[in-house]
Amino acid sequence: MLFRIRLLGGLMAMAMVCLGTSAVASEAGSGAEGKPLIVVSTTQIADFTRQVVGNRFAVHGILAPGADPHTYQPTPGDARRVARAALVIENGLFLEGSNWMTILANDAGRPLLTATQGVRLLELPEDAEEEHPYDPHAWFDPANAAVYVRNITRAVSELMPEHAGEFRARSTLYLAQLRALDGWIREQLAVLPEDRRLLVTSHDAFEYFARAYNLRTSAPVGWSTGSELGAGLTPARRREVVAAIAESGVPAIFVETSVNPAVIRQIAEEAGVRVADPLYSDSMGAPGSPGDTYIGMMRENVLTIIAALAPQDGDPE
Ligand SMILES: [Zn+2]
Repeated sequence: MLFRIRLLGGLMAMAMVCLGTSAVASEAGSGAEGKPLIVVSTTQIADFTRQVVGNRFAVHGILAPGADPHTYQPTPGDARRVARAALVIENGLFLEGSNWMTILANDAGRPLLTATQGVRLLELPEDAEEEHPYDPHAWFDPANAAVYVRNITRAVSELMPEHAGEFRARSTLYLAQLRALDGWIREQLAVLPEDRRLLVTSHDAFEYFARAYNLRTSAPVGWSTGSELGAGLTPARRREVVAAIAESGVPAIFVETSVNPAVIRQIAEEAGVRVADPLYSDSMGAPGSPGDTYIGMMRENVLTIIAALAPQDGDPE
């Protein structure tokens, strides 16, 4: 594991040398329209950052909507952008595969903020590797999303203290929206009876959501979709998922927008349940889609979950 990280770091360093350092250095810290640049890993962190900085920084997200952070391979273009960044922001906790965002920032010598610093962490099940004791999908609890936002607000205020008041004002409004979102989710999910509160998804991304809103989860693949991390797809896990579906009697299970749906489709067929509309998990939706913001993706997920799991008139008792 350590060797792989070092090797990747070395390759990135070599790529940097090939780009030529003079061009990179002359643009350091600037983005489009001469604004200082913040480069972030995930779509959710890009949204949180834009909510706080307004027009004061250019924000570039490395992961496109629908991309999988666990398996993403950084490109020389990513390394070039990071080298020009005034600030680099990652999720951390090995969400970014073999820690690729840390490596990009370190290789370029740019300041790095780990947005999950100080969140209420969930430990991974005991069968997880010791190197990765915590579940990285922390944004799924809006109380944790608020911690991301506070961390980002603090970091950009240090970079641009003359606009700290403005960043704090935007942050205050957005944090109020996150609290409203949390209350709304609670209200909406109240229609689900105990035996319907099971979320079967492609991989174990929904533990924080489940903890916050009193749901159970089951997934054929562990906390990472990368074959070398997480528990991976095993016949035993697959049997557990099918048994959980049968025991609960849920009528539907879920695919995720950033994960190949094949395994869930097979399990649905085997268990005789429906595949519901996809959930946003590790990525928000494309611009213009209803899930193209964090609040939008959470709202759409809740509506999708209720449409699939809430008892309908005519359901057998
Ligand atoms: Zn994930």
